[in-house]
Amino acid sequence: MRFFGDYHTHSYLSDGRQSMEEIVRAANERGLKEIAITDHGPMAAVIGVKDCSIYLEQKAQAAKLQEQYPDMRILVGAEANIRDLDGTLDIPEEVITELDLLIAGLHPYTIPTSVQDGMALWVQNSLRHPGKKQSHKALVANTEALIAAVENNPSLDIISHPGLFFAVDVKAVAEACSRHEVLFEINCGHNHPPISDIIEAEQTGVRFIINSDAHFQDTVGHLAYGSSLVEVLGLDAQRIVNHAAGGGIAAWGKTETRICTYSSSRGYREPARHR
Ligand SMILES: [Zn+2]
Ligand SMILES: [Zn+2]
Repeated sequence: MRFFGDYHTHSYLSDGRQSMEEIVRAANERGLKEIAITDHGPMAAVIGVKDCSIYLEQKAQAAKLQEQYPDMRILVGAEANIRDLDGTLDIPEEVITELDLLIAGLHPYTIPTSVQDGMALWVQNSLRHPGKKQSHKALVANTEALIAAVENNPSLDIISHPGLFFAVDVKAVAEACSRHEVLFEINCGHNHPPISDIIEAEQTGVRFIINSDAHFQDTVGHLAYGSSLVEVLGLDAQRIVNHAAGGGIAAWGKTETRICTYSSSRGYREPARHR
C-alpha cells in the first residue's frame, strides 16, 4: 500500500531525536504529500513538551519550512495525554484551535488530575504481578478513559496506539471511535495493535490511520507494519484514511471548532464522578 502522508511524528521538543526540518526533509525524500509533527503534551514526565507555547512556535516554523517545501503540506498537531477517567487532555483549547490535528493516547508517567484517577490508571497498570482481578480492573479503567476521551473531545482526530502499555476492550474502544469519527491508529513505531485487535476493530466499521510515530529520521514515513496488515487481512483501502488515493487531511480531518476537555492543574482535584 502507498500512503498520502504520515500523521504522527516527534521532534526533539518532546522525546524525538530530530528537528522539525529533519522530519520534513525525510518525509519529502520518501515522497509523502503531507507530514505532521505531533509532539507529546506537557503532562507526561520526561517525554512531554516543556509547555504548550511550543506548539505555537512550531506553527510559525512550519510556515517558514512550507516555503522551502512547496510540494508537501506540513502540519503541526499534538499527541495529548489522557489524564483521567473522564478523558481530560493536557492541551488547552486556545492551543488546540491553532493546531492542524489532534491525537490523544494513554502514556506511562502521566500526571493524573486526581489521586483516584492516578490509582485507577497508572498504579493499576504498573503492578508488576497483577492478579486476574487487578488486570481486569485496569482494563476496565483504561477502556473507560479512552472512550471518555473520544466522547468528550469532539475535536479529536486520532486515538494513538490503542491498547499499548494499557490493555483495553478493543471492540468497545473501536465502537466509540466509529460513532464519533475518531480514527483508530495502527502504529508502526510500536508494531501495534496486533493483528487480532485489528480484526476485532475492523468489524465495528471504524476507520484506521497508519502512522510511523517516528522519533528518528530513519523511520519517518515507515509504514510497513500497517501495510503488511492490510495485505494479510485483505482490508479495503477505503478503511485506511491515509492510503495514497484517499486524499490528505482535508478529506478526513475534523473541521469544526476545536473543543476539548482540559486541565492544566498539577494539583489534584476531586474526581468529577466517584467510582
Ligand atoms: Zn504515544
Ligand atoms: Zn507518539
